[in-house]
Amino acid sequence: MLLMFIALSLPILSQEPVPPAIKRNFTVVTAYEELVPFLQSLDEHSDMLTVNIIGQSVKGKNLYGLMFSSSRFGKDRSKIRVLIFAQQHGNEQSGKEGALLLASELIKPENRYLFDKIDLALVPQVNPDGAEYNQRPNAHTMDLNRNHVILTEPEIQAVHALFNEYLFEVTLDVHEYFPYGETWEEYGYRKNFDVTIGSVTNPNVSGKIKDLSDNHYLPYIFNYWTKRGFSSFVYCPGGPPKLSYIRHSTFDINDGRQSLGIQNTFSFIQEGMNGTDSFLENLRHRSEGQMAGMRGLLEYVYLNIDKIKTLVASERKKLISGPVGQEVSIQSEHVANGQKLSIPLVNYKTGTDTTVIVNDYRPVVRSIHDVTRPVGYLIPRQSAELAEWAKRQYLTITTFEPKRNHTIEQYLITAIDSIDFERDTIVNPQVEVREIINFRSSDYWFIPANQLKCNLIVLALEPKSMLGLITYPQYAHLLKKGENYPVLRVVPK
Ligand SMILES: [Zn+2]
Repeated sequence: MLLMFIALSLPILSQEPVPPAIKRNFTVVTAYEELVPFLQSLDEHSDMLTVNIIGQSVKGKNLYGLMFSSSRFGKDRSKIRVLIFAQQHGNEQSGKEGALLLASELIKPENRYLFDKIDLALVPQVNPDGAEYNQRPNAHTMDLNRNHVILTEPEIQAVHALFNEYLFEVTLDVHEYFPYGETWEEYGYRKNFDVTIGSVTNPNVSGKIKDLSDNHYLPYIFNYWTKRGFSSFVYCPGGPPKLSYIRHSTFDINDGRQSLGIQNTFSFIQEGMNGTDSFLENLRHRSEGQMAGMRGLLEYVYLNIDKIKTLVASERKKLISGPVGQEVSIQSEHVANGQKLSIPLVNYKTGTDTTVIVNDYRPVVRSIHDVTRPVGYLIPRQSAELAEWAKRQYLTITTFEPKRNHTIEQYLITAIDSIDFERDTIVNPQVEVREIINFRSSDYWFIPANQLKCNLIVLALEPKSMLGLITYPQYAHLLKKGENYPVLRVVPK
């Protein structure tokens, strides 16, 4: 009787779509079967929102893009385009739950103002197949957040198709971190931040974008979280301090943040804390912390639209029309800069907070090997896998007309050594560069370097690149000692 009274007396509230997790007080995560009707009800409820199917998972589940706009999405060039995507890792449930909370907030009248300036695409669940079994990889057992260079998985192809359609100026990839590893338990302390945030670290990304990210946005979002009761810190993997160095995120470009960041996007990764022994533990607080981070980004972008739009436009232009011969870093390492890190940790046994000074802190990424930006690369037509890769990456590919001022270079692989890459050992070929004299241009496709993905192209195709295609099993066969590397460089004479 009492319940009926409440329902009747609050007709407007009862109509507003309530996220499934809230309905059940966060005792169960939102299943795909509930997510779909919830998104439909959001769509019906709001004239600002169109829910699109942006692709399908390996097992055929739809991937949804929630397109928030007060006009036709992406058409008004005075607006800023923001892409937020969550749950690439199926066992990181709070990102998706936070995204659903955010969506139900954004359709409220008091939040309409955001869309005067922002077109937002929100993808709450990139990996529904993994989510179904609360597992990290997709149904091909692939880690989707290591797939953004080779783009073999349909879920990640969908994210990039969406990105390429609108060339979002701001992106956020939402994850969880797991601070309960064995080595940390032995160490006696662990990380205890509700949420962490990481910016781009690849040395080829615009220094101005890094500066705005690290020195302007990060302080803003830390303060935003603090005001709302969430602890936060910069995303810093590695450690524990006595065992290993602590650094910022990988400089690899095969994840969501960096694959978009390498296109001079204002791009971030956000990681909320996972539950200790259950993905349900503290789920409400975790989801709300994730939502606050996403919401904070939108507010920051709203307040700083001109600064971000101008910066991204000018830095992207440099990628497209940057000079041939410019240096591109293809091997890097994390190094110290004399700074020590004060990291707040929690004592495993007593649960008390403490601060540890990390001596071996390596916040800087330094290049250890550069190549020059060529006019472009030639890929053999015979090897369909390279052309297919280039198509998946939406690269411009053309036939090649050699010009008088062009030289065609080929690499001879003289030895295959190894090199440390963030505590992994990977191949490090030794090469000799030779000029090709007898050359049939009809045997090759040309990938010009003067495109937005310029740095990605160089990083993917150079044989000595730590982040190159040859470091993936599918492409490792392109590298053979004593043989020529099949991809050629076109450089000025
Ligand atoms: Zn993750």
